[in-house]
Amino acid sequence: MNLGQVRHWVFDMDGTLTVAAHDFAAIRVKLGIPPKDDILAHLAALPADEAAAKHAWLLEHERHLAFASRAAQGAVELVRELASRGCQLGILTRNARELAHITLEAIGLADCFPVAHILGRDEAQPKPSPDGLLKIADAWGVAPQAMVMVGDHRFDLDCGRAAGAGTVLVNQPHDAWPGLADRHAPDCHALKRMLG
Ligand SMILES: [Mg+2]
Repeated sequence: MNLGQVRHWVFDMDGTLTVAAHDFAAIRVKLGIPPKDDILAHLAALPADEAAAKHAWLLEHERHLAFASRAAQGAVELVRELASRGCQLGILTRNARELAHITLEAIGLADCFPVAHILGRDEAQPKPSPDGLLKIADAWGVAPQAMVMVGDHRFDLDCGRAAGAGTVLVNQPHDAWPGLADRHAPDCHALKRMLG
């Protein structure tokens, strides 16, 4: 995969464009979720009242994190470079769309991602489901094979693979999930250099 030729880029947000700030272990303790459980899947299986209350707590908790977001190394430069090349840019996040927009404003990239191109947990099935990526492909009128999914977590890679898109792992010192990432870059500066 020649990344310099790719025109359609979808990014995970937290830990990919930002410095990771979520303490998922603490969130699980606070919400009474077993250590190994997927947080969003756990909440989805609860009775409606309990799920609503816990989602409300999570949204407020993440709102504070969003306002305090810091850009990951090289993320602003990478996204600006892609935008200047005329690439289409989207966000697929397990966070909420509203908070994704606040986060992107905080790191100075909101102008690069139209809100319609930000899919959060209420707009699509959460990753690792390919649902959101397929929705973005549809909205852009491109085949998933023409896209890359960039993220820092296994969920991002599984999502990209399941959709048939290219996959790029960033912000991990090593290729932590061999075979799932088409390309690996230790940070967004390195990824920008891979554009050629
Ligand atoms: Mg992430």
